[in-house]
Amino acid sequence: MNEAGWFPALALDGIERRYGRAETTVEVLNGASLALYPGQSVALIAPSGAGKSTLLHVAGLLERPNAGEVTVGGVAASTMADDERTALRRGQIGFVYQFHHLLPEFTALENLVLPQMIAGLSRSEAASRGRELLGYLGLAARETHRPAELSGGEQQRVAIARAVANSPRVLLADEPTGNLDPKTADHVFATLAALVKATGLAALIATHNMDLAARMDRRVTIRDGRVTEMA
Ligand code: ADP
Repeated sequence: MNEAGWFPALALDGIERRYGRAETTVEVLNGASLALYPGQSVALIAPSGAGKSTLLHVAGLLERPNAGEVTVGGVAASTMADDERTALRRGQIGFVYQFHHLLPEFTALENLVLPQMIAGLSRSEAASRGRELLGYLGLAARETHRPAELSGGEQQRVAIARAVANSPRVLLADEPTGNLDPKTADHVFATLAALVKATGLAALIATHNMDLAARMDRRVTIRDGRVTEMA
């Protein structure tokens, strides 16, 4: 708990993650700890190979650490079976990648409806929330467009809308604006930041863009396998 009395939306505690065996082992994370609070956006800035993707995969319950604990919304994941971890991930964590990964055959709205229906909502409930999100992100006029009919910035905004469609607690993003020109990156980032504040999401965003990182609440890096705060 921090001084404001909130519990972290996401906590990593003493995470160890290594790849390979015996003398070829690479220790990527070696006692990495981090707490993300609701409504907080945190930039993850580190050179290539430092372990950003590994940290995001462990935080997002996509990879199990060799040691340490991941706690999402107060629920510890280390002792969970795979199906429980999947349920926790689907319910609580949204992902945005550098490339949008939207389903090409489906419209923007359908791309938001599908994950909500998988989570158990009816088609009409899912469509209603999908329209609301697209409207909030300035995409109301793009509902029926397929990804190929959207600009790069619009595609990324739809990908962000899809990531938060099931109202997750935590948003994890790996270079979400890395593929966009500076002006579009700025717009997409502003949208993401507004969403974080409006919904109380906690966001961990790996980026190389120092201008965008400067506008987040906190900046962290990975040094010798540990997460450390930056100025
Ligand atoms: P970043 O995202 O900061 O570029 P990564 O987390 O992708 O860094 O990788 C960190 C290190 O771990 C790199 O040296 C990479 O080669 C190694 N690594 C990542 N995934 C694997 C894997 N599945 N098997 C072996 N080594 C890996």
